[in-house]
Amino acid sequence: MKMGVSKQELDDAKNRVTKGGTYTVSFQGFFPKKAKNGSSVNLNPRLVIIGDPEQNGKEVPYSLNFQTSTWFMVENFIHMFGLKADEDGQGNKSIPGDWIQPSEDPTTWKYTGPLQGRTGKLEVVPGTYNGKEVFNVKQMLCALPGCTEKHSDNLIKAA
Ligand SMILES: [Zn+2]
Repeated sequence: MKMGVSKQELDDAKNRVTKGGTYTVSFQGFFPKKAKNGSSVNLNPRLVIIGDPEQNGKEVPYSLNFQTSTWFMVENFIHMFGLKADEDGQGNKSIPGDWIQPSEDPTTWKYTGPLQGRTGKLEVVPGTYNGKEVFNVKQMLCALPGCTEKHSDNLIKAA
């Protein structure tokens, strides 16, 4: 056993957003992992800033926890890309698209669906975590035509 960090983690850290602001982001897939508490999954969407002269190509880290109590955030996330959650006749809701889930381990799950490659807008603000400067998603701007949902304008408080 060795203690270390992966090249992927180092590259990701280098490539993170370095300034607060409202950005257009492109959705480049989910990279799900078990949440630290083990009882839920973080979807870890890859969100890449586009069209910003300074932050272009940088990623906005966002864990996007998935469970009943955080579903409103997942739904807000879907709306940010101008899409609606799928809903069956019984009122069950789901992320539009499909998942291949070859095992219980979320890191093996693969998403395909209409979110892929879409763009949306979110606001990022600076904060601190364990003494380090981090950037948090404060709000995801709804782009769903005709939406009457009151989305949170401070997800940091809600999380
Ligand atoms: Zn909405």
